[in-house]
Amino acid sequence: MTAEEALKRLQDGNKRFVDRSHEYAGLDDEKRKALVSEGQNPLACVLSCSDSRVPSEHIFDCGFGDLFMVRVAGNIVHSIETGSVEFAVWELGVPLVVVLGHTHCGAVTAAVSEETAFGAVRLILDRVLPSVHQAQTENPGADTDTIINSAVRKNVFKSMEDLLLGSMVVRRSVRVNRMELHGAIYDIETGTVEWLGEHPRQREWLELG
Ligand SMILES: [Zn+2]
Repeated sequence: MTAEEALKRLQDGNKRFVDRSHEYAGLDDEKRKALVSEGQNPLACVLSCSDSRVPSEHIFDCGFGDLFMVRVAGNIVHSIETGSVEFAVWELGVPLVVVLGHTHCGAVTAAVSEETAFGAVRLILDRVLPSVHQAQTENPGADTDTIINSAVRKNVFKSMEDLLLGSMVVRRSVRVNRMELHGAIYDIETGTVEWLGEHPRQREWLELG
């Protein structure tokens, strides 16, 4: 499957999810058992937020074996997430990696409101903060909702940047057209996924080797 075909599968699945015409395909006993004997061959790796309102398999009307999921609060990328994505790309050969942010993200909202984080939650907010500061700088005097929406978008691009700069496997796979890396934002009110495409600076980073 090509990246284009995988992307189309996810886009079509989201359309069915939004207009309530789910196929619920690939959720039967037969498929579940076949994946044990045949192994998995997912069509995409989706790195999304842990938020319970963002269940990727439902959003994209996918079944068993379709999506290799990396879920972490704030859909941030650190070395462990990078390793999970590299496994999906290198070992499983997924043609598409999607960083999926979402509206009303609690991690982004907490970072915007400068909440005091407990324990290791601080590590997550620290990862989101650069996107918040960028959103505040670019939207001086804007209301909180505007800042949050802007920061959600920037945070998706930041995770794509972290994957591209942090992983030679990701860069090489993109460079040789083995895989495409796309950003997207899920609207938790409408159920619609907005596609952001590839990172605007991707070409420049691919030169890094
Ligand atoms: Zn979130």
